[in-house]
Amino acid sequence: MLGQMMTAPLLISSLIDHADRYHNRTKIVSVETTGGTETVTWGDVARNARRIGSALSALGLEPQARVATIAWNNRRHLELYFGASGAGFVLHTINPRLFPEQLVYIINHAEDRVVFIDRTFVPLVAAIRDKLEHVRHVVLMGPRDEEAAAQLDGLEFYDELVAGGDEGFVWPSFDENTASSLCYTSGTTGNPKGVLYSHRSTLLHSFGGNLADGLALSARDVVLPVVPMFHVNAWGTPYCSAMVGAQMVLPGPNLDGESLVNLIEGENVTIALGVPTIWQGLLAYAEKSGAKLDALQRTVIGGSACPPSMITEFRESYGVETVHAWGMSEMSPLGSINVPLARHLELPIEEQHRLRENQGRPPFGVELKIVDDDGRDLPRDGETQGDLMVRGHWVLDSYFRMQDDNILQDGWFATGDVATLDEDGYMTIRDRSKDIIKSGGEWISSVELENIAVGHPKLADAAVVGVAHPKWDERPILVAVAAEGEAPTVEELLAYFDDKIAKWQIPDTVVFKDALPRNATGKVLKRNLREEFGTVLTG
Ligand code: ADP
Repeated sequence: MLGQMMTAPLLISSLIDHADRYHNRTKIVSVETTGGTETVTWGDVARNARRIGSALSALGLEPQARVATIAWNNRRHLELYFGASGAGFVLHTINPRLFPEQLVYIINHAEDRVVFIDRTFVPLVAAIRDKLEHVRHVVLMGPRDEEAAAQLDGLEFYDELVAGGDEGFVWPSFDENTASSLCYTSGTTGNPKGVLYSHRSTLLHSFGGNLADGLALSARDVVLPVVPMFHVNAWGTPYCSAMVGAQMVLPGPNLDGESLVNLIEGENVTIALGVPTIWQGLLAYAEKSGAKLDALQRTVIGGSACPPSMITEFRESYGVETVHAWGMSEMSPLGSINVPLARHLELPIEEQHRLRENQGRPPFGVELKIVDDDGRDLPRDGETQGDLMVRGHWVLDSYFRMQDDNILQDGWFATGDVATLDEDGYMTIRDRSKDIIKSGGEWISSVELENIAVGHPKLADAAVVGVAHPKWDERPILVAVAAEGEAPTVEELLAYFDDKIAKWQIPDTVVFKDALPRNATGKVLKRNLREEFGTVLTG
């Protein structure tokens, strides 16, 4: 017997309809690529989403045609999130920091038909335009701009498309399992791989993300996604915000500390989300300028391990709670989030603080487990480490156009991370499996050493990699970036690890660089560091 309840497909268009119906006066603040700030409302975004959805439909594209964006976080990008997916097309958000060859590869692999670009990226696209095999329209996200048109043949203009669109456009209805959006992983090895999200997975991810022990956005929040809209859908914040009618502040191209502090203070941002490197710049500027960040209640930090010193600084200097989260493109991205349990609140305060440092536990909808090399389950004792496996409603089943490759193991996806889980399911990421250091048969976590190193006041940034050693096979070395005006010595940096970690885990030496090499999503390219410094211990 079936239940006798209404069913409606879980579609992205229903999110923007909801925001339009119940939150139409709530503000969306958008820093424009060409300078200045524009303030619109969810009602305006919904109207333009319908207009751009109808305009795209009128172009005669096939259903689920890929519609790409190369753009910062701004209100036109937000309109496309709902307009393109809502009208039944697949929104392909592209990371502009990819190498031009990788851009050409993914645009051709995705068979993008339309590419929407911000002003910044006109030269980038002009340089590769003739290699884009399937692209029929390149659209500048702004009004008519003759200077840009002179650089790119056939350039069209977003504001003109919107003006010609139908405000009364009715969203089509279709199967909730239909593809809605596409993101490519940054592909530190080999070609980038596409993760194809569905309307259903996106809505379930939004419900899961908004749980009280999740991101917990509300109609009283002012949300600043510093995480780019081209990086795993800005961690789902556009969808989660529309679902509850939260105000959004979209920071545009300026992600330096000063711009972010001014936005947070000027717009009374309550929750900001991004990767650790962004917050380093923000904290440095806030300290220098004496900013108070009064309205800010929470920062959500993930994408790479959040150093404990950063959590402490947010808490002690600004009264801001840091929520440490973990995820990946393959999981939409939310996999785990660190919030306390009731009984943690009875522990001494230092202990409570320590418990907030790990990557947290999964919300309903995601399951985590760790396994050994033979795929056998390992205990959740907080100490045993193993390969982290995931499954859930918003985890991928196969990569785009690689349906025949069975990437799952008994229905679980192998994350490539090495982790421990405790009895309550709190997870600590020890390392990427390819970065973990094997010294004389023992494992050393580079993440743990980096977390300590970045706490040193004379360092701006640090990475730890394993390099060849004649006796121990591999030993850790610290690659250090000195803070402005500082010149720390090798001895003082190594001494800093004393009493913070077992002696045999302390790096063998320190090498210095002006900056760490990072990939398009901001992760340190450890392979490059291993190549550069691979022989420092063997001579
Ligand atoms: P990419 O496209 O580079 O894979 P993702 O954002 O999908 O970008 O990267 C996912 C990986 O990032 C995870 O598997 C993990 O190694 C790392 N990561 C994400 N969040 C955290 C975190 N909070 N702590 C440690 N590592 C993290």
